[in-house]
Amino acid sequence: MPVLRVALDLPLHRLFDYVVGSASADDVGYRVRVPFGKGERIGVIAGVTDASEWPLAQLKPAGDILRDLPPLPRDFFELCEFASTYYQAALGEVVMQALPAGLKRLAAPVRRAGRLASAPAQATPPELTAEQAAALDAIDPQAGFAAHLLFGVTGSGKTEVYLRLIERMLAGGRQILLLVPEINLTPQLEGRVRARFPGSVVVSLHSELAEAARERNWRAAFAGEAAIVLGTRLSIFTPMPRLGLIVVDEEHDASFKQQDGMRYSARDVAVFRAHQLGIPVLLGSATPSLESWANAQGRRYGLLTLSERANPEATLPAVHLVDTRKMKVADGVSEPLLAAIRTRLERGEQSLIFLNRRGYAPVLACAACGWVSRCQRCAANLVLHLADRRLRCHHCGFEGRVPKACPTCGNQDVHPFGRGTQRLESWLTEQFPEARILRVDRDSVKSRKQWEAMLEQIHGGDADILVGTQMLAKGHDFPKLTLVGVLGADAALFAADWRPVDAGCRAGRTCRAEGRGADPDRIPRSPAICRAGRP
Ligand SMILES: [Zn+2]
Ligand SMILES: [Zn+2]
Repeated sequence: MPVLRVALDLPLHRLFDYVVGSASADDVGYRVRVPFGKGERIGVIAGVTDASEWPLAQLKPAGDILRDLPPLPRDFFELCEFASTYYQAALGEVVMQALPAGLKRLAAPVRRAGRLASAPAQATPPELTAEQAAALDAIDPQAGFAAHLLFGVTGSGKTEVYLRLIERMLAGGRQILLLVPEINLTPQLEGRVRARFPGSVVVSLHSELAEAARERNWRAAFAGEAAIVLGTRLSIFTPMPRLGLIVVDEEHDASFKQQDGMRYSARDVAVFRAHQLGIPVLLGSATPSLESWANAQGRRYGLLTLSERANPEATLPAVHLVDTRKMKVADGVSEPLLAAIRTRLERGEQSLIFLNRRGYAPVLACAACGWVSRCQRCAANLVLHLADRRLRCHHCGFEGRVPKACPTCGNQDVHPFGRGTQRLESWLTEQFPEARILRVDRDSVKSRKQWEAMLEQIHGGDADILVGTQMLAKGHDFPKLTLVGVLGADAALFAADWRPVDAGCRAGRTCRAEGRGADPDRIPRSPAICRAGRP
């Protein structure tokens, strides 16, 4: 009697054996219904044998083998096996997380006559710069596996390089997987890709898609019908029979790393998958991760550089480094910066002062005995929030009142030490009483709605000085903004983690640790609290 070895979505490093009336090696990769405990589950057949480590009489019989989809291919299993070993996750979990929800459910999936959208008119591709042309020449789509790091300054036209490369791959009849960070997967990007390739089916795969749409798109990718798949990190596991190229845009982005369940880096899995299939992989960024940078320096990855902006009218910003050891500094702001803000105010332009620490001050301290406001629950310091007079741990979420006197020596004179965005905001208000100052951090922006309202306010020119954390630092185009000041720019060099953003929170997944490198501010998604209930 044949035995099915079945991968189930359980955190156990083993497959489960079931007997079946008839089966062959061709059944590997099909889904199957199996009894488990008191109920039933859907699993994936990972192997068919005629022996088991258990006596056959003790094995339960499998239920129906589901053949509504072609079997998952061998290279899919190899990819999952790699991820399972490398990230210490159970094979069943890896295999099952790659499937859309509808395919994992016991109730027969409802057939949807889904329509894959076709594209509007074609956009005329822009002329390539010399650097773009050189980058394209360096990537040989036929040469098998090669990893390239495309290091291009903002506005240098990385996307155009991707699109030209995609065009070549499409001509060869191959599929393309374009991975983008969560926040960049917008309808605009999808529209741009669609408009460029009107003859090809383009689908997106991400967690905010409705379940039916996600399943439809996944099926199109798996069937080879979708030529281009635009997706966030999870889509790296999508089986694609004619995959010929993987592009990871903004490869440094923290959202490529999954922070719960199986902790994997989609960028690294992308490189493995390209190697496995013998195809090129292109990692693009204006600010590459140090890991990829090191790989490029060590010549494991090819380095392609775009140092000039594609539009010759656009100039790179002038950067002035102010040495605060030699310059007078008041509350973190140097004289030249203060003067520059004043000039912008006079001209009716906007300034942005970037400080990667929210709250009023990072710690409350007693000068008499050396007491500092430490968190009772973890190793971080409690941050002073003056607006509502609370001490908060940005690491674990602990909260407490501000003591009237030092808890150890009774000294009445406890002082805030260092500065956060709230303190900077109030100091700037004293300096420029006439200016409209807007603070943008996770304390002032708690929902997507508030965030959008604030962006509108900035765009509408209803703010003169923006004080913000990294929430403001990325990818926004504010037309009136002509000055950016970064306070304590070298502080991050002394942090425990070299990654500027990616400080994972131990308490949960939407909240992020602070004080170990940088402010974890991010746009809250719903629900805006992590599993441990921390804001
Ligand atoms: Zn004290
Ligand atoms: Zn804490």
